[in-house]
Amino acid sequence: MSIKTSALEPRQRKVRILATLGPASRSPEMIETLFIAGADAFRLNMSHGDHADHAASVVAIRALEKKYNRPTTILADLQGPKLRVGTFAEGLVTLRKGETFVLDRDPTPGDAGRVHLRHKEIYQALRPGERLLLDDGKLVLRVTECDDQRIETIVEVGGPLSNHKGLNVPDVVVPLAALTEKDRLDLAFALEQGVDWIALSFVQRPDDLAEARKLVGGRAALLAKLEKPAAIDRLEEIVEMADAVMVARGDLGVELPPEKVPPIQKRIVAAARTLGRPVVVATQMLESMIKAPTPTRAEVSDVATAIYDGADAIMLSAESAAGDWPEEAVAMMDRIARTVESDPAYFARVHFTETRPDATTADAIASAAARIVDTVSAATIVCYTSSGGTVRRVSRERPRVPMLALTPKLETARRLGLVWGTHAVHTRDIASFEEMVAKARRMALRARVAKGGDPVVLMAGVPFGTPGATNVLHVVRLRGDELKNYHAD
Ligand code: PGA
Ligand code: MN
Repeated sequence: MSIKTSALEPRQRKVRILATLGPASRSPEMIETLFIAGADAFRLNMSHGDHADHAASVVAIRALEKKYNRPTTILADLQGPKLRVGTFAEGLVTLRKGETFVLDRDPTPGDAGRVHLRHKEIYQALRPGERLLLDDGKLVLRVTECDDQRIETIVEVGGPLSNHKGLNVPDVVVPLAALTEKDRLDLAFALEQGVDWIALSFVQRPDDLAEARKLVGGRAALLAKLEKPAAIDRLEEIVEMADAVMVARGDLGVELPPEKVPPIQKRIVAAARTLGRPVVVATQMLESMIKAPTPTRAEVSDVATAIYDGADAIMLSAESAAGDWPEEAVAMMDRIARTVESDPAYFARVHFTETRPDATTADAIASAAARIVDTVSAATIVCYTSSGGTVRRVSRERPRVPMLALTPKLETARRLGLVWGTHAVHTRDIASFEEMVAKARRMALRARVAKGGDPVVLMAGVPFGTPGATNVLHVVRLRGDELKNYHAD
């Protein structure tokens, strides 16, 4: 196989950009525009669009992979057990503070006094005094009476309510399965499409992940969206069970008072860093760019904060999916990231999160590699990897230099698109120590992460081709005339 020089070199930043696709960005041309502007990974949101839309996006994204010779990353986000009320005879009602409002099992259209709520599990889970939030928390109801047929409430915060608006029940662990019927169909579809990551919404307990893990069966990696207070109560267990997590600030900020979200964001990022799982910070990052070509100063500051905290990836939602300025939003994130990461204080801040290596050879070598980079002023870490595990271990150390992940597995290269500081290259496996060194030299030069004379840190596992056996740490210095000598694979 011949490896062309990437038309696009590694991004000049560590943090990854995850862009949600939607009506504003689903055309192959716009997907390419976002990719060039800096999107490293794309989210297909299963709550919107149909399978034909998503299948077309997958085709367009994979075409970019070929065109630019760079692995692309696709995340399919399952809707999860999002609760919704039924319909209203008039389509819209207005609830008034102090009045009674009932949710019941009667499927006929509702009015200002009642509405259908189909999810029967909720009836048994609620107790008087608990809250129901409607339409992203804009309306608040307090339960006064509840049995298995009806939930009677008093309106605490009123307002307009229309068909199928979302319902949040922040005060209880809802005895709902993590995957709905729709999720199962979407999951089967997404796996058939060969997506790289599956995101699970409204994860409440570690068991939710175990169930999904069984269904996925290793065909994709699993990201847990943290958007329920119940999940925060069992944060470490859930982070440990997932391959990555998302600080899903949208729903989290509905279920909890918004001022509680920033400390939780810090806690989640720290937990993910400590446990070596990639972490995505999401929602409203550049919200005003849905309608305007420039963000507010506060939004820029929010994106910068997530980067200073050491998040692996930052996400665009409606900004790229349904806004008027998708390209500008990606480009803005890219500029903020490059500026923050070139701040001399950036690494000191990122290293604020302490990561203690596990008692394994791979972890010991990964943390040593990051240290050697500083000691010998290496230009890059070249890491041979089969499953991507070694790369995640090194990434957790947040080394100063770019990591070049060389893998014979395309699916590994693609999954690495959410991992901080990693440039993945899909390439043939190596068979000997000499080949490992020679190839690392060539690839580092081609990817332009090193130049003649630079020291380069290499990591690999011997015997070659055995997954999970990283046990070689090697330092080489590229020769001044190196570039002239390399031949194509
Ligand atoms: P969503 O998830 O965009 O799928 O709702 C993210 C969030 O809730 O923040
Ligand atoms: Mn959400």
